[in-house]
Amino acid sequence: KRLETEQFIDQGLRNDWFTAHLQPIVSLSDGRVAGFEALMRLRHPERGILPPAEIIGIAEENGAIGRIGDCILSKAIADLAVISKLDGLADIYLAVNFSPLQFEPALPARLAALLLENGITPARIVVEITEAVLMLDSPVVRDVLDALSELGCRIALDDFGTGYSSLSYLNRFPVDIVKIDQSFTRSLSSDQPDVRRKSRMLVEGIRTISHQMGCAVVAEGIETTEQWDILQTMDVEFGQGYLLSRPLPLDALLEKLDEFATPDMPARRAAAS
Ligand code: C2E
Ligand code: CA
Ligand code: CA
Repeated sequence: KRLETEQFIDQGLRNDWFTAHLQPIVSLSDGRVAGFEALMRLRHPERGILPPAEIIGIAEENGAIGRIGDCILSKAIADLAVISKLDGLADIYLAVNFSPLQFEPALPARLAALLLENGITPARIVVEITEAVLMLDSPVVRDVLDALSELGCRIALDDFGTGYSSLSYLNRFPVDIVKIDQSFTRSLSSDQPDVRRKSRMLVEGIRTISHQMGCAVVAEGIETTEQWDILQTMDVEFGQGYLLSRPLPLDALLEKLDEFATPDMPARRAAAS
């Protein structure tokens, strides 16, 4: 199985099978699309679309993650340039996931060059990292994060609240956005009243701390209107999840964007549920 995945990675890089699917990130107050997260997919000619979980783990071990990451980054930025031409979407942002191994000294300059080529300002890029990046606690990672931040990119802390000492990272690194892990969103609509009540307190706590640290908050994994409604009352700025849209390839996304609110149209939430 492992050998097979390594083969897919290898063939994928040679034959251009890697692609980015995009998932809208929506403003909870008015339903407008604020940005997109790029999620890696491998389009295998026989096996179809393969999700990233396994591929990334193995690519991190055999070193292919650097090349995969570069490929996703350039494709997603090219997609952003296309989406930006649509009415009302000129300022929309793109969030890209980074593995710890991608944090090498040349990254900020490479990203800056890519952005220039595509006519996109750094402020429209969000670098999503998990604690795995910060736990390395290496001077190189620190310098790269600082350089990305100075370039004007924003840094988002992914899966917040699930790993080790997330709170202390807010203090030590230039974090701009906190992404509340999907497990919290799910528990907000648990069948058990006690779980619901406690999850609510946890989300409110994370929100309050994040805001006090100057970070915006994104709730991940919104699947039901009930979760959407609860989060809307909680002063959480942004949300993302299957209720709004699954991650989609560019052409499907461009069609889907009609369902979302635009600057001159009131919120029309996608009726995906
Ligand atoms: P993540 O960054 O936390 O991404 C969110 C994951 O949740 C995605 O899974 C997305 O498809 C899924 N998701 C979105 N909305 C919902 C929902 O409402 N319900 C549920 N159950 N799931 C939802 P995906 O695409 O399989 O990606 C898994 C993980 O793989 C990502 O988690 C991220 O850590 C990693 N990943 C994805 N693309 C890249 C990449 O280009 N580079 C790196 N280094 N990692 C990536
Ligand atoms: Ca992410
Ligand atoms: Ca996440």
